[in-house]
Order: sequence, then structure tokens, then C-alpha cells
Amino acid sequence: MTKQAERLLADPCVRSQAVAVLRETYLADVDQHSLMERLGLAGYESASGVGDVEDQGKEAGPAARRTAALSRIVRDAALAAKVKTLHGDRCQVCGLQLLTRFGTYSEAAHIRGLGRPHNGSDELPNLLVLCPNHHVQFDTLAIYIDTEGIVRSTADGDPLGELRRHPAHQISAAHLRYHRALCGRDTTGHTTQGDSRTSRPMDSTPISSVSER
Ligand SMILES: [Zn+2]
Repeated sequence: MTKQAERLLADPCVRSQAVAVLRETYLADVDQHSLMERLGLAGYESASGVGDVEDQGKEAGPAARRTAALSRIVRDAALAAKVKTLHGDRCQVCGLQLLTRFGTYSEAAHIRGLGRPHNGSDELPNLLVLCPNHHVQFDTLAIYIDTEGIVRSTADGDPLGELRRHPAHQISAAHLRYHRALCGRDTTGHTTQGDSRTSRPMDSTPISSVSER
């Protein structure tokens, strides 16, 4: 590997993008999950990544289990509840507010997953409120959010609509870019020629300043 390639691949977004492009170009017909696992790239085929995620606030298990759980990723249940309340349990992609016998239901999705190799953070700007269908599609990289805040199909780029927003819920442009890179659709983060350091910084995209009325 050349020095330049090595330097480029040290950037997690560039690395994710590279894995996605290779996968799409040469390995599209192979079972993605087992392929990534065999290549030592487990987790690159999903937005959430690999690793046990534990919900904080649940009843504590027996001592042995608590010891074993030390290395687990803690997910803040209160934070998830907060973002769902802000959006009134409405999916930020389609606006669906799913009704159950016991009230409305939505899911809090991490944009940059908590699991390996993504190691995302459990914080408000890294969350989206989604319906179960769009959560699955976001996690399996079937949809992504472009730099203008438009939700698009990864396969053909078709727009599904604008991401719904709440003024009290700032979304990290850097995390959205990371997810796009996983989808192989990061067009802002790398240059095709010249020095990679001239590429735009992650946070320069206008998305975090856009808010819904
Ligand atoms: Zn939805």
C-alpha cells in the first residue's frame, strides 16, 4: 500500500467508503454479513456495527452477568425517550406515528452505530427517530441522508423526501457523513486526485443549520 493510500485510509469515513465501493463493485452477489466477518471487517455492512448493546435503566442482572456486562456498550434509555418525545414518536423519514394498543411507538436510531468498528457516541446529535421500517433500512444501509438533508435510496439515489427536523434536535453533519460513507455515498469527504487534506472538513456541510419550521 502506498503512503498516500495509507494516509487516506486512516480517515474512518474514507475507510468506510472504500469498503462500501469494493463490496459493491466486486462482491455484490456474496452474503455480505459472512463476507465482512471473514475479511475481518465485521460491522461494515450495518450502521449499528457489532457488539452487545445494553439498555441503561433496566433491572440489573445477577452479579456474574453484571461483571460480564462491563465491556458492553451502554445505551442511554432516557436520551432515547427524550428524542422520541421531541418528535412526538413521528418517523423523521416518513412522518409515520405508529399506533399501538398502549400508545404511539417509534425507535431511536444511532446514526453512527455504537458497535464496532463505528464506536459512535450515545448523544442527541447522533440519534434519529424512525419508524421500524425506516430504522431497518437505515441500519442496513438501504437509505442515507444527503448533504442537503434529503433522504435517498442507496441503490438508485431516488429521493424519499426531506428529513423531518425539530429545532431542539441538532443532528451531527459529521455522523451523517459517516453513515453516507458506509453506504458508499460520501461524495464530500474525499478527492479523486491531489492531496486528501484539501477535502472539505466533515462539519462544513450546511445540514446542521437547517431546521424545520
Ligand atoms: Zn418511516
